[in-house]
Amino acid sequence: MVISASPVPFAEPVFVTRPIVPPMEEFVRELESVWRSGWFANGGAQHRTLEDALRNTLGARHLSLFNNGTIALTVACRALRLSGEVITTPFTFPATPHVLSWNNITPVFADIDPVTMTIDPTRIGELVTERTTGILGVHVYGMACDVDGIQKIAEEYGLRVLYDGAHSFGTEVDGRPVAQFGDATMFSFHATKLFHSAEGGALAVSDPLLKNRIDLLKNFGIKNENEVVMPGINGKMNEIQAALGLVVLRHVDAEREARGRLAKVYDERLGSLEGVSVFSLPGHVRSSMQYYVIRVDEKVAPVGRDRLYEKLREFNVFSRRYFHPLCSSLNCYRSHPSASPQNLPVANRIAGEVLALPFFGALGVEGANRVSDMIHHIFQNP
Ligand SMILES: *Cc1c(COP(=O)(O)O)cnc(C)c1O
Repeated sequence: MVISASPVPFAEPVFVTRPIVPPMEEFVRELESVWRSGWFANGGAQHRTLEDALRNTLGARHLSLFNNGTIALTVACRALRLSGEVITTPFTFPATPHVLSWNNITPVFADIDPVTMTIDPTRIGELVTERTTGILGVHVYGMACDVDGIQKIAEEYGLRVLYDGAHSFGTEVDGRPVAQFGDATMFSFHATKLFHSAEGGALAVSDPLLKNRIDLLKNFGIKNENEVVMPGINGKMNEIQAALGLVVLRHVDAEREARGRLAKVYDERLGSLEGVSVFSLPGHVRSSMQYYVIRVDEKVAPVGRDRLYEKLREFNVFSRRYFHPLCSSLNCYRSHPSASPQNLPVANRIAGEVLALPFFGALGVEGANRVSDMIHHIFQNP
């Protein structure tokens, strides 16, 4: 399609995501019951109801709510007794390796798969040492890790498997929810995520003893009035967060469907652009629809990724280069031998290609078409 006239910029800045904003009356109704109870924290009625609802929605055997995803992941490392070194991916949000650091664990970086952009299980074995205790995989954008490949290598070396599923609310592999794989999966309910409670998080596990340990760890290790059985932290979700979560949860399916319509527009409009690849999920994976990301190959496309990112800003479109910079290039991690670019050629290449586009229901099909027009225009007028 040839678009000659320059597209009209958006009147207001358009970001990659916009939280589900439910009708305020729905939230006020939940708050009224919080006010009547006078119970604001420590596992009240809202917390119990949300924990049950999310356990069902996420298909988890056991679920524990948290005040945010980072604390949930931090507690998971303790609960699984991870120590020494944990093998993880550089292609993630900095919280992933930071959580290991906060547990005095060295993050060891393995390269990613060029298609799924998640940790490549075939690169894990060569990084295992006698200090390695676990694997921390990250489900990226909505795609899932190679959960079977990771499980196999974990069993071979006797390692624990932990997943950062911050992007994967509703992601399924062969019809199975991601919450059912590995020893524990973290979910984030930050406002930028598909499902949110302003801030919040959860851990999904299959082992009931692990669930008990997690619940102690997130509440100072307090077992009862007389016993404090371990050095815990405060990871509890409060009643206001849980009330918001209950309201937002009613709108998640509609939001995911709306995002599905946008993905179709982008796939059709951008998939044929020279040097652009749209992300097509393998047939056995259902996406959470967290982000819509294109890859720009600057050797083929008329503009590189960074130029496209800059030019889109002129149209009031604030795309994001997730995940740039790579965690392995951060000052706090770059000195580890596994962080060298020679060890991570795929991750380093892909970090220079990816661009997340505006992807939220309120953008509408018309909005996605406008963004597509802008990208076509930029490609024709590089
Ligand atoms: C958002 C995010 C986190 C952090 O979750 P919070 O709830 O904000 O603490 C961790 N990992 C990834 C991949 C994320 O996208």
